[in-house]
Parts: sequence; structure tokens; C-alpha cells
Amino acid sequence: MQTGKINVQTENIFPIIKKFLYSDHEIFLRELVSNAVDACQKLKTLSALGESSADTSNLLVEVIVDKDAKTITISDNGIGMTDEDVVKYIAQIAFSGAEEFVNKYKDKAEANNAIIGHFGLGFYSAFMVAESVEIKSLSHKKDSKAIRWECDGSPEYTLEEIEKDTIGTDIILHIAEDSMDYLEKNKIDGLLKKYCKFLPINIKSGTTESTEKEGDVETKVVKDNIINNPSPAWTKKPTELSNQDYKSFYRELYPMNFEDPLFHIHLNVDYPFNLTGVLFFPKLKKSIEVNRDKIQLYSNQVFVTDAVENIVPDFLTLLQGVIDSPDIPLNVSRSYLQSDSNVKKISNHITKKVADKLEEIFKNDRKEFELKWNDINLFVKYGMLSEEKFYEKTVKFFLFKNTKEEYFTLDEYAEKIKVNQTDKDNKVVYLYTNNVVEQHSFISTADERGYDVLLMDGPFDSHFVNHLESKLENISFVRVDADTIDKLIKKDEVIPSKLNEEEQNKLKPIFESVLPKQKFTVVFESLNESDNPMIITQPEFMRRMKDMSALGGGGGMSFMGNMPEIFNLAVNSNHPLISKILNEGDASKQNKLAKQTTDLALLSQNMLKGEELTNFIKRSLELI
Ligand code: ADP
Repeated sequence: MQTGKINVQTENIFPIIKKFLYSDHEIFLRELVSNAVDACQKLKTLSALGESSADTSNLLVEVIVDKDAKTITISDNGIGMTDEDVVKYIAQIAFSGAEEFVNKYKDKAEANNAIIGHFGLGFYSAFMVAESVEIKSLSHKKDSKAIRWECDGSPEYTLEEIEKDTIGTDIILHIAEDSMDYLEKNKIDGLLKKYCKFLPINIKSGTTESTEKEGDVETKVVKDNIINNPSPAWTKKPTELSNQDYKSFYRELYPMNFEDPLFHIHLNVDYPFNLTGVLFFPKLKKSIEVNRDKIQLYSNQVFVTDAVENIVPDFLTLLQGVIDSPDIPLNVSRSYLQSDSNVKKISNHITKKVADKLEEIFKNDRKEFELKWNDINLFVKYGMLSEEKFYEKTVKFFLFKNTKEEYFTLDEYAEKIKVNQTDKDNKVVYLYTNNVVEQHSFISTADERGYDVLLMDGPFDSHFVNHLESKLENISFVRVDADTIDKLIKKDEVIPSKLNEEEQNKLKPIFESVLPKQKFTVVFESLNESDNPMIITQPEFMRRMKDMSALGGGGGMSFMGNMPEIFNLAVNSNHPLISKILNEGDASKQNKLAKQTTDLALLSQNMLKGEELTNFIKRSLELI
């Protein structure tokens, strides 16, 4: 047996590692299993190059939890290490990395932002949960002697020759008192599923037993319990995969999600950075709910994180799937990831790919694109609102949907309404509704005039309308109930009014007296005789400010949320009923008629409630 001393100044660095290295202690398992997988991959490469004659037909990493012995063993049949290797790679290089790390961070309270990966500390993360670590290894190199190395976290270690027949390495963790919960097999299996689900070498954790029947003979079959799928879909070529394969992969990623994705994007870049992955478009609901099945970030098939917010643009977090890039640094904090230039490039690339995929579907199969539009428009609008580059690409195939369920690109729509909906100031008026039920009467009036009404009932649509107005020239969006239709799209020809100013002034206070106080402004309008006698509208500007403040936007407009709602009561001066009210000699009768008419207008907007509604019904019954 020989003893050695790791050449460091700091006496005992492990308490510091334990405290600062990773906020998540559980990551030790990912690090050690990744090392074991690397060792297997290396042996495979050497064997392919003819530089090793070791058997590589059944490369395997096994994780064994022994509760009685209080150990966790990570065992592989990879390249193994000689005594020199251990001294060099574990005791010197890795340890000096650890020392460098400690020197840099021992005085800092917060070391989480460190680029831990740069220190090559993977192996030493074992000391976050172990009080001592043993390595037993036999190198693949000819005539190697098996060795055992042990270290309890102090700079002293022991190294001796042992008997070991098989090539490979066992890392044996003697679990520390405060980490005993890792001795639960279920917990370890859970961690393996989380971090190692798609590692490229089989990972075994225990065995499964089943019985197989052949005729009358039942035999017990014991199989290795393999945790991972070593060749997940994203590592294959798109040409090797069917639609069904992508769906199966989706299921594999999100076992609790039973919906099929709408479509997928297979990413495969090798310049100027390496990136593979498969992204899925899920069916989005009308509201943005928290997406439980998030995009997962991998680095060479090792799970890094599924907290991709701030790493990819916000709107992309609505997507699902896998992004794998060795250029995404493994052991770093999220705030570091955000500023990493590769991560930025990757995120731009994905944005572009997503837009390209949408365009491809639009160009190849417009019908299919329209069918999927209901499910993806939320995503597209969110992207257009938040990423200028995405806007520029998607604006070509963005679709408007009107109340008749017809779809138009921006250009097609502009062409459609150009003639009829250009007002006398040469502005093209885009009418829209956000509620076909509540705004039904307005939509049908627009319809009668031959105007088209867009359906804008999504959660971002009020923002989106503002955004489009700022992008497109000489247009304005108005909700169908923002004013009477003839005021929304002003034409040159006007209908002469039957009431003169004096008559209007006489009627105004009568209507005001029967309306809820301070909520309505009474205005007279010269409409068609066949239009309703009274129409309640809500000015576009006021309503938009309220909408924006409700959404939390609108920059300092939050006070608008508390403002009372203000409506216009447009009185149709050409309607016979209005003349009748004017000419009614009996004041009480006149008042009753005025009340009845305004109540009808309120009722049509679902604004007549409580006592007012009860009184209205009573009065109506009397009249009948
Ligand atoms: P890194 O993996 O980033 O190089 P580590 O501290 O995790 O840093 O490991 C240091 C080195 O120890 C590895 O590069 C490798 O050469 C060696 N090593 C670790 N684990 C194994 C193993 N299971 N089999 C063979 N070599 C190993």
C-alpha cells in the first residue's frame, strides 16, 4: 500500500465544496454516471480504432444501492484507470481544479454563479454526499494491475493493488450521515430517470422479474432493469424516423401527457455550433397556462435543466421537446447561461427554425395550416409581439380569422376590405370583435352594411391589435361596438337628420334622467330608420386603455383599472319611436316611453340588472 498527499495548500476543501459546489447535491449522481458513460464511450472509440482488444459488446453502467453497507456504487466496464491515471486525473488534475475553485470562492458567500464546469470538478461532487470515496479499477491497457484508491476528503489518500478481474471502474461512495436519504433505491432511480434517461450507454439499476409461459412450463425470467433509452429520437436522422416515432418519443418524454403534439421540428446543426433536438408544438389552450411539460436541455444526452426560461425567448417556452448541445455549458447557473454567446446563437437559431417550419406548412398545405391555426395562433402572436425577427418572418403568413371562419393573410385581407372599409379620411378600418355573443347586434349591423369583422378573442389580442397598428400604415382597428357603424367607417354621404338641434336639446335631459347616473353620454346620430332607436357603445380609446392596464401593460396606466366605465348612448334621430317620444304630450307617458326604450338598449348589451331589470319586466307586462 502506498499513501499520497494531494498537493494542495487548503487543508480540507471538502466542506467548502459541499457547501458551494452545487445548490443541488443530487447532481453527484449525474456527474459520476456521466463519467462512467464517458469511460465506456472511450473504450468503444479505442476498440474501433484497433487500440484496445477489450470486449465492448456489452458496455454497461450499473448503479447499486446497499443500504446495510451505506454505500452507493457506480460501476462501469469502460476503459478503467491505472494507478498512474488515478494519481494524474483524480488526485492531481481534478483536485487542483477543486483547489482553484476553492481559492476563488472560499471568501465569497455566493459561489453559485461560478463556471464550475471549468474546474473539472465532476468527480469531487461525490464528496457532497459521501464521507469517503473508493475507486476500484482495472485499466484496459495490457498487463495493467487493478488498483484501489481511497480518500476521506482530506488531502491524504491511499492507493494499493487489489484483485479485480474485469476491466472497468467501481466508484464506491460511503454515504455521509447527513445524506442517508440517498440510500433509498427509489430516490436513486428517480434521479437516474431525471438525469440519465437518454444517456448513450445502458444504465442498469437492479433487475426486474417476470414469468414467461411456454406450454405448461412457467419460467421466471430475470432481466436487467435498464433506466435509459440510449438512442433517443433526436440522435437519429429525420429520414430514419416516421411520424409515429416522433409521437412515441413525445410520449417517452412526457409520459403523463396523453395528447398528441400538432407537429414537430427536428433540429440538426453542426456549424457554427452543435445542436440537435426535436421540438414539439403542443395544442395550446385559449389561455396561457403553466406548461408542465417543458423543453428539456441536454448536453451530449446528459440532462441539464428544464428551466429554460430566460435561456430561450419566452414565447418558445410554450413549445416542448429536447434541445441538445455540447456547446451549452453543463455546470453553470442559469444567469450564466443567459449571457453565454452560444446559448444566444442557439436561441436565435431555434426562433428562425420555428418560423421556417410554420412557413413550410403554410406554403405546402394552406388548408392544414388553417386547421392548425386555432391551436398555434396564440404562440405565433406571442412570438410576433416579443421578437422582432420572428415578426418579420411570420408576418408573411400570419392569418386573420373573421367571424365567418374564413382565413386571410394580411395582404389578402387588406385587398378584401380596401374598397368598402376605407373611410373618407383614406384610412382603412379593421373592424373586430372579441366576443361574438355579446357583440352580436353590432356584428350583424356591420354585416348588413357589407363590412367584414375580424375575430380577435385571444388573450394577447388587445396587445396584438396595438402592435399591428404600429406596424401597418394608414389603418386602424376598432371594435365593432366602439361606436355606431357609420361613425366607425365614416363615408362622404350622410343621412339627413329628422330632428333639429332644438328638438335634440329637448330630448336629451329626458333620456339622461332615466339612465344610470354618470355612466352614459347621450349623443344623437342620424342613422337609418331601420336601425335600432338606441345603441350603446364604448369608445375604442378608453376601452383599450382599460384592457391594457388589465393586462399589466400600458406603461403607468394602471390607474385606468379603477376608472369607471364610460359608455355612449347613441340615439337614432331618424327612428319613428324617438319622434314619438318627442311628440308625446303627457309627461309621465313620455318618461315611461323613454325609460322603456333606454332599458331595451341596456338589455341588448346585458347591462340591465337587479332592480332595474325587475322594474323593466313589470313595466313591459303592463304595456302588453
Ligand atoms: P471531467 O469528467 O470533467 O474530466 P472529473 O473530475 O469528473 O472531471 O474526472 C476527472 C477524470 O477522471 C476524467 O477526465 C477521467 O479521465 C477520469 N475518470 C473519472 N471517472 C472515471 C471512470 N469511471 N472511468 C475512467 N476514468 C474516469
